[in-house]
Amino acid sequence: APAAPIYPTENPTISKLLMDEMKAKNIMNNLKTLTSRPHIAGQEQEEIVLVDWIKQQWTEAGIDSIVVHPYDVLLSYPKQNDSNYVSIKLANGTEIEQSQRKELVIDAEQNDPNVVDPFNAYSPPGEPEAELVYVNFATIEDFIALNRTYKINTVGKICISRYGRIFRGDKAVHAELYGCIGLILYSDPLDYTVPWSGVYPEDWFPPTGAQRGTLWVDNGDPRTPNYPSIPSAWHQSNSSLTLPKIPVTPIGNIDAIKYLSKMGGPEVPTDWRGGMNITYRFGPGFALEHVNRYVMSGKNTVLIKMSVKTTNQVATIHNVIGYVRGAVEPDRYVLLGNHRDAWVFGAIDPSSGTATLMELVRGFGAMLKRGWRPRRTLVFCSWGAEEYGLIGSTEWVEELQKELQARAVAYLNVDIAVQGNYSLAANGVASLSQAVFDAAKTVSNPNPTEVSSGRLTLYDTWKLRYPASVGDKPSYYGLGSGSDFTAFLQIIGIPSVDLRHTYDQSIGLASYPVYHSVYETFELVNKFVDPGFKIHLAMAQVWGELARKLADVPILPVDCRVYATDLAQKRDALYQQYGSKMESNGIDFSQLNDTILIFTTSADNIHKRIASIDSTNAYETRMINDQLMQLERAFIDQNPLPGRVAYRHVISAPSQHNTYGSTAFPAVVDAMFDIDVDPDQTGRWDEVRRQYSILVFHILSAAATLNPTV
Ligand code: GLU
Ligand code: CA
Ligand code: ZN
Ligand code: ZN
Repeated sequence: APAAPIYPTENPTISKLLMDEMKAKNIMNNLKTLTSRPHIAGQEQEEIVLVDWIKQQWTEAGIDSIVVHPYDVLLSYPKQNDSNYVSIKLANGTEIEQSQRKELVIDAEQNDPNVVDPFNAYSPPGEPEAELVYVNFATIEDFIALNRTYKINTVGKICISRYGRIFRGDKAVHAELYGCIGLILYSDPLDYTVPWSGVYPEDWFPPTGAQRGTLWVDNGDPRTPNYPSIPSAWHQSNSSLTLPKIPVTPIGNIDAIKYLSKMGGPEVPTDWRGGMNITYRFGPGFALEHVNRYVMSGKNTVLIKMSVKTTNQVATIHNVIGYVRGAVEPDRYVLLGNHRDAWVFGAIDPSSGTATLMELVRGFGAMLKRGWRPRRTLVFCSWGAEEYGLIGSTEWVEELQKELQARAVAYLNVDIAVQGNYSLAANGVASLSQAVFDAAKTVSNPNPTEVSSGRLTLYDTWKLRYPASVGDKPSYYGLGSGSDFTAFLQIIGIPSVDLRHTYDQSIGLASYPVYHSVYETFELVNKFVDPGFKIHLAMAQVWGELARKLADVPILPVDCRVYATDLAQKRDALYQQYGSKMESNGIDFSQLNDTILIFTTSADNIHKRIASIDSTNAYETRMINDQLMQLERAFIDQNPLPGRVAYRHVISAPSQHNTYGSTAFPAVVDAMFDIDVDPDQTGRWDEVRRQYSILVFHILSAAATLNPTV
């Protein structure tokens, strides 16, 4: 048989051909289709209609194969026709000041019988009645301050927290930990409105929305931790699930003001105040002056009531996976993923990303039709049930972990593609930062004003608007969690990247105001977010170019030297935060310093070897690539991080008290958290020393994987 064709170099002309092939108009039409009806996970529109549409589109695009992976998983829904609300309950049983059960319909577009009313997934049902306490953002620091500084007891109370700062699931964990019997989440105008902008329909900021969202903190089907929900799966019993135990529900700020304005107790400190024109007070309970007229027999029995009818339900979700087979190294995968499920119409989250992915697949299909084929295999992933806790992607990674561990080169995630017109933003593993920068340099700037200021590419605007703290580069940080890259990076150490185009994040918004609300519609995007869909197109181009490069260049664009620099920066930050305390407890920082120097030398050496490689020698090329591909795996511990079910990466993991955040050297930092108040000082410091030694071991191991064979 004739030898397989060897492509000693990439085919760079494809880069431009692919970019020119893709059209903004197509992305716009994709978005229209995707958002024509609500498509929440587990329901017909999402699991049947859109899955079929994607299969049909990808077949037409001409990619090699498409596989659908269904999983039966535990989801959660509010009760149809009896959706959740909050009210003030008087002693005689009357309820007043009830919150809206549905978001206000402003445009006919939002009026669809399949809209699922605001709720927080996996809340248990319940109707708690108690005094209300304001807990700011419900961060762990907020609860510590309530307890230790302000002496406000939250046991047996319903707490009300503003959305923002941290993942909402962590707010529920903290509220439960501090004895609350219910949690109300609301969007404060300070965190969710833009002072100088108008409100919807003049601009894209309606104050009547409420943020849906999951409370699940451990990722994947809650019934099958660590293993896939395939037909043979063992399921944890309902009583042993680690889901929230207290009712939680979201309200918008038009309702929150009804309760917060009536609260009693001391005033909160300045940094706890939101943006409503009221005096923010801790509680507990309402001030008599506001509720006097309802007080019965001189006793303040006016309570806050929550009515939560949310229940868990098993449903079938689907991942759609499409393949373009590699010509030279088909057993090396470059994966691109985006979730498909939305809380309602999802025009920003996630359908801006899905519309983009669809055009990218069509674009790569067109390149195949021209006779091109990448060196490695491209894998396109449309995930189900991300919104419930990264469920589709986690189950798939759990199912295919052995194969992916051996074959995956990188995972490139786009959840929301476009949530603003300000700048590209990217997070990811350090070793891929240069590849992301290079991809962004090839994409024409979608913003004409930027172009006329001489910034011709996405990269130029990114570098100007989000500059790195050191070096003449854009900022690029490590990954926390909150989207589908988590299982890839945290379970099996696949180098991952997350891209999105965003608004100006320095203005202090907790997220864009319509996030997870009924207002995320096609017309909102078409009118306000990206009229013309040029930014969406730029996102397809940067995502596509990064994938093409990873799939096509002979030597993987993985930079181990940047990883070394990054480790040194993380070391400095740890030293600054905890160095003297750790040293006075017998921890020798020179061990970490020396280890990072060893890693740095190994990293420099492998790049010297790359510079002199004989790239026509397929074995030599493959050997180096395997080392580059496997580097990230070396940072995965065989044991999960303490107290975490599925996080194993010792260099970077989601923060212990904020799943959205990223913590460097997580096991060491977690062991140090609030250590001074622990009565078991000996035990705690022993744990810090244990985690420190595990960290040093992993950096040494990773360095060894970069060295040449003996
Ligand atoms: N992206 C979803 C959210 O922020 C899910 C995140 C998660 O479960 O980690 O609500
Ligand atoms: Ca599972
Ligand atoms: Zn999303
Ligand atoms: Zn979301």
